[in-house]
Amino acid sequence: MARLVMKFGGTSVADINRIKEVARRVKAEADAGNQIAVVVSAMAGTTNQLVQWTGEIATIQDAREYDTVVSTGEQITAGLLSLALQDLGVSARSWMGWQLPIQTDGAHGSARILKIDGDEVTKRFGDGQVAVLPGFQGVSPENRLTTLGRGGSDTSAVALAAALGADRCDIYTDVEGVFTCDPRIVAKARKLDKITYEEMLEMASQGAKVLQTRSVEMAMNHGVRVQVLSSFSNAPGTLVVDEEEIVEQEVVSGIAYSRDEAKITLLGVEDRPGVAAGIFGPLADASINVDMIVQNISEDERRTDLTFTVTEADLSRAVEVVEKARAADGIGYETLLSDADVVKVSVIGVGMRSHAGVALRMFRTLAENSINIQVISTSEIKVSVLIAEKYTELALRALHTAYDLDAE
Ligand code: ASP
Ligand code: MG
Repeated sequence: MARLVMKFGGTSVADINRIKEVARRVKAEADAGNQIAVVVSAMAGTTNQLVQWTGEIATIQDAREYDTVVSTGEQITAGLLSLALQDLGVSARSWMGWQLPIQTDGAHGSARILKIDGDEVTKRFGDGQVAVLPGFQGVSPENRLTTLGRGGSDTSAVALAAALGADRCDIYTDVEGVFTCDPRIVAKARKLDKITYEEMLEMASQGAKVLQTRSVEMAMNHGVRVQVLSSFSNAPGTLVVDEEEIVEQEVVSGIAYSRDEAKITLLGVEDRPGVAAGIFGPLADASINVDMIVQNISEDERRTDLTFTVTEADLSRAVEVVEKARAADGIGYETLLSDADVVKVSVIGVGMRSHAGVALRMFRTLAENSINIQVISTSEIKVSVLIAEKYTELALRALHTAYDLDAE
């Protein structure tokens, strides 16, 4: 007997038949004697629709009412799945975030989970009852509904698994697991049997969309075993685990990419103390996340060039903020250039810690394909480069082969 959290994403509960199918899966696990809590997303497309409506009805966005609206998609699927389970003779009930409660902070639209009270659910496990919870939602200290940010149901599921001391958190989705690279682009991509928390965290934050980044962070911090698998097949998925559990560690485990990048270059920036703070301070104040940064050493110690990246969505705001800083704070630069046609490609693997030449192989491979590297950044287990977006496919396929990741 095991205690399991089973989480189903939007495509897995996309319509009534899919929800019935999910109910059969849950029943099978319950019939095997397991204690089950299920976390569901909204039906695919529903949350987008809800978000759109909030935008159409008012120009002023009260984040509390936004959350009231966008959290409803999950309430529907939680209720429907409970009905479907009962129809199959399984004892089941739904629990909204506020009923448990799932306590979050008050950061509406991107709230963080503070505490989950799992006592009542645990008690009912004893009577064989399945708990069905809406992902994505919680309740604030002010007793208002909150949501956790897009893709937040993954985090709900992992947090619940931690609170219940579950043996595993199974994340059911529409792909068979975590792949060495996006299989839609790299046909030879392979499904990984296992991946470490750290690698998964890098994969998620560097653009692989399979899990919400925060959910991986939480799994790592609480040691929750996570499995990513498909609700459309019966194939085993990918286990996200501690490094010690991986016997044969590859140097590079996967390649991620993000097209959602934009580059700003400031030419002829004054080279004096305080200038970087004068640029990045106002960006931070505007809640604009800066990712990669490069600054040249100036030859004459008077002027230099500075390049950094932001998300595409933030680009026009970032340009505005920097131009304003130039005028107001005397951040002298000569020219501002911006470019949204860039992609960040990252090779990721904990094996890099003990292997030399990983970055070199990346640079050589790109050079052999005449792909110019615009910005480079590295961490202990990752090398990222910024290149022109039109080379995305070419770069991913070439790197996948260069790091011996291709399926036979
Ligand atoms: N329904 C929410 C979204 O689409 C949360 C989730 O599915 O994870 O972002
Ligand atoms: Mg998702």
